[in-house]
Amino acid sequence: MVEFHRIHRHRFKDLMKTGLSLPIIISPGLVSLFHQTIPFAATRAFAQPLGRLIPARLATVKGFGLFFHYTATCVSVRIEPWLMIMNHTIKAAAIHGFISLIYRKLPMIDYHIHTPLCNHAQGSMKAYIHQAISLGFSEICFLDHLILDGPGKKNSMDIREVPLYMQAIACLKHEFHDRITLRAGLEVDFIPEKIPQIKDILEGFNFDVIGASVHFVMGYNVASRREAPPKDLFDKQEIALRYFEQLDRMLDYDFFDVICHPDIVKKCGIPIPENCGPVIDDILTRISKKNLTLEFNAGGWDHPVGDSYPSEELAIKCHQKNIAFTLGSDAHRPEHVGKNIDKSVALLKKIGYTHVNTFEGRLVRPVPLGMVKCPILS
Ligand SMILES: [Zn+2]
Ligand SMILES: [Zn+2]
Repeated sequence: MVEFHRIHRHRFKDLMKTGLSLPIIISPGLVSLFHQTIPFAATRAFAQPLGRLIPARLATVKGFGLFFHYTATCVSVRIEPWLMIMNHTIKAAAIHGFISLIYRKLPMIDYHIHTPLCNHAQGSMKAYIHQAISLGFSEICFLDHLILDGPGKKNSMDIREVPLYMQAIACLKHEFHDRITLRAGLEVDFIPEKIPQIKDILEGFNFDVIGASVHFVMGYNVASRREAPPKDLFDKQEIALRYFEQLDRMLDYDFFDVICHPDIVKKCGIPIPENCGPVIDDILTRISKKNLTLEFNAGGWDHPVGDSYPSEELAIKCHQKNIAFTLGSDAHRPEHVGKNIDKSVALLKKIGYTHVNTFEGRLVRPVPLGMVKCPILS
């Protein structure tokens, strides 16, 4: 690694000019061969132009041996005669060509990113985008809160800010169009009395996707540890049951495309009790019939509950009912963009999923799931 940093940038640039040497450095396929679980960011770092290839993230890469090997290769390219250069280059190009035949990069998405407009997220929208780009994400979606009434209203953009939000995303889409695909969405709290107003807003703008959430049960925020229902005042089983009943009721409406973090009620320390089984089954059947998408929310892995929303057990049931997922980190800070998405991908693949849903203009666009794929073997 030390050696790697000692090589000056202009040396890399010189190497690039040889053309043939390029595959040594930039092949994501090579990285994939040695360690499929290498964070996507690392493969992306390799794919960057060499002038930008002094990667701060290399230390996090698990396939360290590979980097060391290519460090050695590059150093020798610098000090050995041309014959040696050709030898290394041809070998690497041959391996690269072979690996490229087998592996191809797949899209990485994060469909749940907040903005400071909701009053409890930090960092500029550009900071979220830059983080996504640096991690190698191909598509992200701003899905900021819209909570029109009740105690959650303070945790949401104001209804009058929706035009500003949409305009900001439109400008950013234009600015970043050649680097990342941006989508515009909302995470709308289900408040039955506000449905007509919600529909008016949704019709007035060109959203790519609308997520719907239940955060508040009996006036308490089950998605917040600070605002959660006091443990001594309420029966946990009742809160969980009420939460799922609300989700069930939400399915009477059709203003949304995605149901966010379906078992978020467990976040505030409420395990999903046995007696919720029938209502959950009913919800999943309805979601399947309505062809709605569920969000596989990776945020929970970093919460005390230490589990995704939904759990693996629930995700297996979803798979059995042919329910599609989209992926989200629920980032409220730029550094949380894409967090644990690789873990989500691995889990969904293990369950048997091959695709996840993305959206454009509220139309579903399934994309292959994963970081790398082997078309020959799959
Ligand atoms: Zn939030
Ligand atoms: Zn939420």
